[in-house]
Amino acid sequence: MLLYGLITVAYKESAMFQGLITVAYIIAAILFILSLAGLSKQESAKKGNIFGITGMALALVATLASADLSAIVYILVAMVVGALIGSRLAVKVEMTGMPELVACLHSFVGLAAVLVGYNSFFKVAFAGGAHGGESVTIELVEIFLGVFIGAITFTGSIVAFGKLRGSISSNALSLPGKHWWNLLAIVASVVLMGFFISEGGSMANGFQNPLIYLGIMTVIAFILGIHMVSSIGGADMPVVISMLNSYSGWATAAAGFMLSNDLLIVTGALVGSSGAILSYIMCKAMNRSFISVIAGGFGNEGAAVSTEEEGEYREMNPEEVAETLKQSDSVVIVPGYGMAVAQAQYPVADITRKLKEKGVNVRFAIHPVAGRLPGHMNVLLAEAKVPYDIVLEMDEINEDFPGTDTVLVIGANDTVNPSAQDDPSSPIAGMPVLEVWKASTVVIFKRSMNAGYAGVGNPLFYKENSYMCFGDAKATVDKILLAMQ
Ligand code: NDP
Repeated sequence: MLLYGLITVAYKESAMFQGLITVAYIIAAILFILSLAGLSKQESAKKGNIFGITGMALALVATLASADLSAIVYILVAMVVGALIGSRLAVKVEMTGMPELVACLHSFVGLAAVLVGYNSFFKVAFAGGAHGGESVTIELVEIFLGVFIGAITFTGSIVAFGKLRGSISSNALSLPGKHWWNLLAIVASVVLMGFFISEGGSMANGFQNPLIYLGIMTVIAFILGIHMVSSIGGADMPVVISMLNSYSGWATAAAGFMLSNDLLIVTGALVGSSGAILSYIMCKAMNRSFISVIAGGFGNEGAAVSTEEEGEYREMNPEEVAETLKQSDSVVIVPGYGMAVAQAQYPVADITRKLKEKGVNVRFAIHPVAGRLPGHMNVLLAEAKVPYDIVLEMDEINEDFPGTDTVLVIGANDTVNPSAQDDPSSPIAGMPVLEVWKASTVVIFKRSMNAGYAGVGNPLFYKENSYMCFGDAKATVDKILLAMQ
């Protein structure tokens, strides 16, 4: 056993072995890039997933192969426990629970970066930290930044988890002088970083002071993460989700620097930059400036949130909706979060097939922030086997509403709210929306007159050509299907 151990150690330190590990990491990084490219289109998403899984498997094998014998046991135990929890969650989680699950996973990445940071700090400290010089300074900067980003990602993601789950109100927290508090936290962290680096370079006489600076900064970053995400209102949450995704990537890259692991750095940078691009796309889709969103709705103070009823509304029952559909030549279906909750995508796909058989021009209109996750509606419709070519983005279909006979709004609310265009005091003012009210008839499927995620009243419900069809979306669509037989 001892001999085997010695041979293994000698082999692992050989240039050839190190070269093999580097090659494996490079191939894994390329597979991750191919995976991202594949995931950008529905047609190639399956292939993208396979690339990602293969890259991750290769990375795990390379990491295991390069670890010490004793570490392999710990890694294997952690992998088995992680795989058991992960596969159970993946099987159990409903599509509607995915956004919360993603937020929860982001918080784990943040926490891991904090733990890696502290571990690296103690490694430097126990090595004396005394050698000083440039390399220790760089290590200390990596540790400080890694813990800072990780701590913000950890608590920010927990708050996002609560907001998406509905256990924390989706309204923006508005503390007096909130931007000053954020600024103060950042300035205090920069000052602490200065102390941490200047005293951390000579830890031979003890590492209590640097540890205290690191600890105080961690608490500040935890609070900053909570405050930043709490200050962001419901309608801006899509940007927060993609922003936390990006932060989790940068936290991973920081951990990669601390652990001198190139693959972690590359993967972290890929996730970080793709999350940043997604945040930009979300901001553009919502006509928001990125800085104003991450600063906690900068400039949004005092925006009125109204959920009051604004007039008379009319109702249509499922049988009447079926009759209206029978007389329509063109139909646009607008899905939203309620379709995901009700799992109505399957009967909706059946209605689509039926209408197509009758020669009706039926299409789907997808708002970029519909649902609770970027691409949420596209995933649901693909799951129900709705053909990709009739699923159109907002910009592709918005001009077609005036020539459309019937629009079915299935569990969507904020994304079809005309007050975004008509009411400058609305919290969603300026957000581009699907202009469904321009069609001849609009039928809105929901259970009540309640507001959507942004908590804003919707004047669409009171328009002359609008009809409410109350009830759970799946039950309602099932009844329409029956009436269409
Ligand atoms: P909304 O959240 O605005 O509205 C969903 C509607 O669905 C509700 O008004 C609700 O009304 C209805 N509903 C809920 N359950 C059912 C059911 N079982 N059957 C029928 N109707 C149901 O959805 P949208 O998709 O239009 O907008 C998304 C919102 O979420 C936006 O504000 C967006 O900013 C935000 N968001 C989006 C994220 C993303 O990445 N896409 C992430 C985080 C937030 P009722 O209770 O009366 O039934």
